[in-house]
Amino acid sequence: METLPSLDPAPNQRDATLLCTSCGICCAGDLHGAAVLDSDEVPVAERLGLTVRSDGELRFELPCPRLSGSQCTVYPDRPRVCSRYKCVLLQNLEAGNIALEGALHHVAVAKQLVARARADAPGESEQSERDLALMNRKLQWAAVRHYFDKFFRKPAHPSHDQGASAETP
Ligand code: SF4
Ligand code: SF4
Repeated sequence: METLPSLDPAPNQRDATLLCTSCGICCAGDLHGAAVLDSDEVPVAERLGLTVRSDGELRFELPCPRLSGSQCTVYPDRPRVCSRYKCVLLQNLEAGNIALEGALHHVAVAKQLVARARADAPGESEQSERDLALMNRKLQWAAVRHYFDKFFRKPAHPSHDQGASAETP
């Protein structure tokens, strides 16, 4: 008997969805600080609660208030840039250059680095301790930037601000 072709979605597409729904890093404000909007999207973006700004180009600020955990809560209504955007890691997954397990590992490491950098904020302590904490924090954010540049983004993405650099004190 003739074998019918499978109607399953392409494995690459399944893996891409699994990766992004486990990640959300591009919405969280550390990888990029803002994302571009088309002018006709402003009313919808404002209705979604996004903070829109215009500095020569229309953008909404990240972290996005519609991110919950690692997932978008307004997925069907999200701006076009969100549906178009593919970080370098996702592009490599789709191209077959990395397996899903490897890509998920990079997401986990990146999230750990960000969490550590955020946790190292200087508190109310002696000046010398504050100086040390500040230096440590700068090193932690440098590690975040390095990891993002290596696995997630090209040095300057045309549609997004760089994020982690803006976070560095
Ligand atoms: S950073 Fe990349 S892998 Fe993570 S959600 Fe965004 S596009 Fe997907
Ligand atoms: S609208 Fe959704 S996909 Fe776009 S930045 Fe916000 S959480 Fe991410």
